[in-house]
Amino acid sequence: MNIIIHRGTHQIGGSAIEISTKSTRIMLDFGKELSLDEKYIPENLDIEGVTAGVPNCDGIVISHYHMDHLGQLTSALPEIPLYMGALSKEVAMIAAEYQDKDLYLRLLGANTFCGGEAFSIGDIRIRPLVIDHSAADNYMFVIEAEGKRVLYTGDFRMHGLRHHVLHKLVNTYIGEIDVLITEGTLLSRDADDCISEVAVLEDISSYIQDGKYVFVMCSSTNIDRIMGIWQNMPSDKVLICDAYQKRILDTVINNVYYESSLYRRHDRPLVLNKGPYPKYYMNHGFVSLVRGTENFISQIKALPKDDVRIIYSMWTGYIEENLALKALLETYPTYICHASGHVAKDDLTKFIELVNPDAIIPVHTDNPERLEELAPHRNVYVVNDNEPFII
Ligand SMILES: [Zn+2]
Ligand SMILES: [Zn+2]
Repeated sequence: MNIIIHRGTHQIGGSAIEISTKSTRIMLDFGKELSLDEKYIPENLDIEGVTAGVPNCDGIVISHYHMDHLGQLTSALPEIPLYMGALSKEVAMIAAEYQDKDLYLRLLGANTFCGGEAFSIGDIRIRPLVIDHSAADNYMFVIEAEGKRVLYTGDFRMHGLRHHVLHKLVNTYIGEIDVLITEGTLLSRDADDCISEVAVLEDISSYIQDGKYVFVMCSSTNIDRIMGIWQNMPSDKVLICDAYQKRILDTVINNVYYESSLYRRHDRPLVLNKGPYPKYYMNHGFVSLVRGTENFISQIKALPKDDVRIIYSMWTGYIEENLALKALLETYPTYICHASGHVAKDDLTKFIELVNPDAIIPVHTDNPERLEELAPHRNVYVVNDNEPFII
C-alpha cells in the first residue's frame, strides 16, 4: 500500500491524501486551502489523473463538509466518483448552493455511506466511523488493503458531546493499525487546557438568561453547538434564524440516516425571520443565531445597546480579520465562549496510546515535529507533501 499526502503535511486545511494499491487509487479528502488573508489566492491541487490528464482515480472519499476537506472537488476530473456521509452531503449541498454553484453540481452525484458500514472501492475496503468534530456526520476511516490497515482521523476531538463513544470505536472497529494518519491542528497552539463542549453550552445557557436580545455568533454548520443551545433555551424565549440557517437545521432534524438524541425534533420553536424583528419578539425578547456579516451587524446596531448581549462562539482569530465585527464586539456587551473542534494535545497522545499504531503520520498541522516531542517512544514520521510512504 502506498500513501502520499498531497497536501497537509505542514499546513492546516486543504488536505488531500492518496492511498493506492497495485490496482486501486483513492483520495481521502480534497480540500481548499484556508487563509484569513483575503489577498491570499488558494493554490489549486494539481495531481495527474485526478485533476488533469486521463482520469486515474477510483474515488474521492470525504470525511466531512468543511471547505478545507472538500472545497477543491471542483478541480477533480468529473469522471471520478465521490463518496461522503449521507447527512454531510445534504448539509454541504445547502452551503454550496449559497456559496459555490460548481461545487453544488459536483456534489449532486456523490455516493453516500453511513457510519460503521464498510464499503469497497476496488481492492480497498473503507469503514467510516462517526467521530466528534465541529461538523455533523463527521468521519474517521479505517482503510484495509493488501493485508495492511490504516486509520485516517480526518478532523476530530475528544472533548465534544460524543467523547464517550471513542473507546468503543477503538475496541470494536479499529483494531490493529499499521499507520495512523492523524490531524494535529492544535499541536502548534500553546494552550494546554481545552474547554469542553459541555462547558461551553452551560456558559451559553447562563448568558442567554442575561439579556433581552441575545445574538449568538456561531458557525451555521456547527450543528452540535446549535442543537445544544436550542435544546437548552429558557422556555420564555424563542430561537430566531435566517432562511439559510433554518434549512440546515431542518435538514438535520428531518434526516433519516443519522440517529442522535441531540438531533431529534423538540418543542422549542425555531422562527424564520427575514427582516426587522417583529413587534412581538421586540416586546418579549429573543435569541437569534447570526453571522459576522454586514447585514447582521447593522441589525444588532439598530437595537438599544443595554438590551443587547452578544455571545461570540467561534474561533477568535476571525475577529481580527473583520473590522466591523471587531468594533461591534468592542462596543456591545459580549461574551466569548468557544470549544475547539480539534483534538487537544494531551488527548491526542491518549488516543495514540489507545490505538497503538506501528507508525504515525501527522497531517492538518503546521507543526508536525511537535508530535515527535509529545510521543517520543512512538514511530512518528514527519513527511513532506507529495513524498510517497510505502507500507
Ligand atoms: Zn479541517
Ligand atoms: Zn473540520
